[in-house]
Parts: sequence; structure tokens; C-alpha cells
Amino acid sequence: MAASEKPVLDFDGLRPPSPFLTAEHDAWRHQVRAFVDAEIAPNLKDWDLAATFPDALYTKAAAAGVLGMGFAQELGGTGEDIDLYHRIILAEEFYRLGSGVVFSDLATHWVALPPVISLGSPEMRERVARPVLAGLKKMAFAVTEPSGGSDVGGFQTTAEKVGDNYIVNGSKTLISGATRADFMLTAVRTGGPGVGGLSLLLIEADRPGVSTKPIAGMGWYNGNNGSISFDNVEVPITNLIGIENRGFAGLANQFNIERFSGISATLALARTAISEAIAFGRERKTFGQRLIDHQVIRQKIVQMIQRLNSTYAYMDMVVWRFHQGETPVADLAMLKVAATTTLEHCARESLQVLGGSAYTGDNRVERIYREARTFVIGGGAEEILRDLAARQLGF
Ligand SMILES: Cc1cc2nc3c(=O)[nH]c(=O)nc-3n(C[C@H](O)[C@H](O)[C@H](O)COP(=O)(O)OP(=O)(O)OC[C@H]3O[C@@H](n4cnc5c(N)ncnc54)[C@H](O)[C@@H]3O)c2cc1C
Repeated sequence: MAASEKPVLDFDGLRPPSPFLTAEHDAWRHQVRAFVDAEIAPNLKDWDLAATFPDALYTKAAAAGVLGMGFAQELGGTGEDIDLYHRIILAEEFYRLGSGVVFSDLATHWVALPPVISLGSPEMRERVARPVLAGLKKMAFAVTEPSGGSDVGGFQTTAEKVGDNYIVNGSKTLISGATRADFMLTAVRTGGPGVGGLSLLLIEADRPGVSTKPIAGMGWYNGNNGSISFDNVEVPITNLIGIENRGFAGLANQFNIERFSGISATLALARTAISEAIAFGRERKTFGQRLIDHQVIRQKIVQMIQRLNSTYAYMDMVVWRFHQGETPVADLAMLKVAATTTLEHCARESLQVLGGSAYTGDNRVERIYREARTFVIGGGAEEILRDLAARQLGF
């Protein structure tokens, strides 16, 4: 863009230029956007109010090549030849609308399915991956427990080996998609205390002793988020994923993937919030001039853009390092905190710019404000991530 040209300050214009984005990424963005605009945008308000969406969206998302992103073609995926930007773009396009109700359920298999594919038996891969990628079955990632989610080493759900089965007892909470999942990738205690005693087990939702209950939630009005109880559930030992008592390694990798979704979702929500504030500020008149012409409002908007740009620059560098084969855990943790606190700032300030208008009608800023807190807690809470960074940095 020439120096004299003014940028268009809409959702797309607010993404700072990145040297790493290619024409192929652009094509993927168009593909996802076409799906989101056709299938989700017209229904979003109703689905947001209903706190759910129809099951048919899963098969539509599969047909549009959205569910299969990054999974092997022989299992029904679109192919493994993707990079982190494909994942980032997918989350950005869903969150562009300013609502997480759809993505939180539709996206769970990107975290829950990879361990099944890489560590599960060939029989399990066929039975689980194929129908999930076709949108015919659904998965949940069941890790958090009522006693706490941050302290993974403290999990209490047990799986005791009896003959050819594990007998599972315990409960999980706040699990996205719990109430309509067919398969649950579940963290269970098969050994002693601490993370060294954890394993990953595939539990089918229709096994006797499995029950789910919706959780009425704040902000993210998702009626499918719920708790799961396991009451003497018999699970064949062939459902173990990976090596017994080594489940934490499988989980840690999935947490990294989940973090990228959270980071890109929050930055997309921040972009939407800022663009709405700018549009409103240009339109609204107070004290004889446009709202955006008041210095305090201009300052607010520039500060939001400034934080957004810094976080995108940080994200691009962390992505680049992952693409070089590094796993910069401390930076990923700090990046997630930077992204979520940027969103919190932008949600507050955008809503402040909109004033009372934010409370009226179908308002994206109001939705974003409601959802912002979720990201600071889910996928690694702020305090836990800063501590993780401190440990990695060798304090
Ligand atoms: C909308 C939503 C969807 C979710 N979906 C899923 C899902 O699909 N699967 C799943 O397994 N989980 C899911 N979760 C749960 C999420 O992962 C947990 O909420 C998160 O890990 C934090 O655990 P907790 O809520 O039990 O908080 P706790 O672990 O009880 O912690 C409470 C607070 O104290 C802080 N804290 C804890 N320990 C320390 C410490 N040592 N020092 C300083 N501060 C500390 C934490 O940062 C947190 O803010 C979801 C949560 C939400 C809100």
C-alpha cells in the first residue's frame, strides 16, 4: 500500500500485513468464509439465543472441507499438507462473526482426534476418525474435573484394570460438546499420583454408566457444554490411547494446538470489536462532531490497534518458530496471555465507544464482551500460563 493511501479499517484491513501469508492461505480463507457466510451468518442470532445449532451443520462442514482440515485423506480428511496458518485462519473466520457458540463444538475434534489417529489402533482409527471427519459422529475432549482444571496432576477420575477392561469412575466438567458427543477422549488415572499416573482413554458415550448434564453458563451461551459422570463404566483395554501412565505427553501436545485456536479466535474477536467501534465512531455525532473526532475516542481506538498489531507481530514470530521445527513453549504461553488480554481490553473499550447502543439489538460487540472472559480461562488460564513461561525460562 502506498504511504498516501488510507487503510480500510474493517475486519480484513485490521490484520497487519504478514510476510508469511501466501496465496494458498488466501484461498483457504475464501473457502472457509464462503461456508461461514452461507451456513452460519444467517442463523447466528437464533443459534446464539438457542445456545446450540442443528446437528446438520456437522455434515455440511464436512462437505465444505472444513471438518477434515489437516487430517489424512485416507480417513476422509483434506490432507495433512497444511501449516499453522490454516488453523489460525479457520478460527479467525469463525470468530469474525463475534460468536463462539458454533466453533467451540465444531472444533473439538481438532484437539481430541489427533491422539486417536497417531496413537490408537488401526481399528479405532477407522471406527472413530472416519465418521467424525464425515460429520456423522462427534467427539469431546474430557480433561477438566470438578476439583479443578489447571492442576492436571491432581485429576481424580480413575480407571482400574480388571481383566480385559478398565473400570472408570469419576467426573469431568465444563466439557465443550459433552452433551452430544459420541466419543470422549478422556484423561484418567491408571497409576499413582501426579501427571505420571495419567492415561488417555477413548470412552464411548453410550456405555452403561456414562451420563452427561448441560451446564448453564456465563457468556458463552453454549447449551452443549456440560459435565460427564462415569459410574463403574466398563471400557475395553483396547481403548487405551498410547502408553499407560504416559497420557500427559499426549495431552501437552494437544494443549499447544488448542492454544493456537484460542489465540487466533481472540485476535479475530478483537478485530471485529475494533472495526465495529470505528464504524460507530464515524457515524455517531456528539457535541457537534463525529464521535471519532473526539481526542479521547481516537486515543482509545489507536491504543486498541496498537495492542492488536503487537500481538499479531508476536504471533507471526511464534508461528515462524514452530514452522522452523522449534517448540517455543514459553512464548506460546505468553502469546496466549497477550492475545486474551488484548481481547479483554478491546472488548471493554469498543463497548465503551458504542455506549448504550451496545445493549440494543443483535450486537456483535455485546457478544464479544460476553465471550471475552472465556478465553482467559479456557485453554490454560492466565496465571497458569505465566507460571509455565516462568518455569520454561528457568527462573
Ligand atoms: C467455555 C469453556 C469451555 C471449556 N471446554 C473444555 C473442554 O472442552 N475440555 C476440558 O477439558 N476443559 C474445558 N474447559 C475447562 C477449562 O480448561 C478450565 O476452566 C481451565 O483449565 C481452568 O480450570 P478451572 O476452571 O478448574 O480453574 P482452577 O484450576 O480451579 O483455577 C481457578 C483459578 O485460579 C488460578 N490458579 C490456579 N492455580 C493457581 C496457581 N498455582 N497460582 C495462581 N493462580 C492459580 C487459575 O488460573 C484460575 O484462574 C472449558 C472452560 C470453559 C470456560
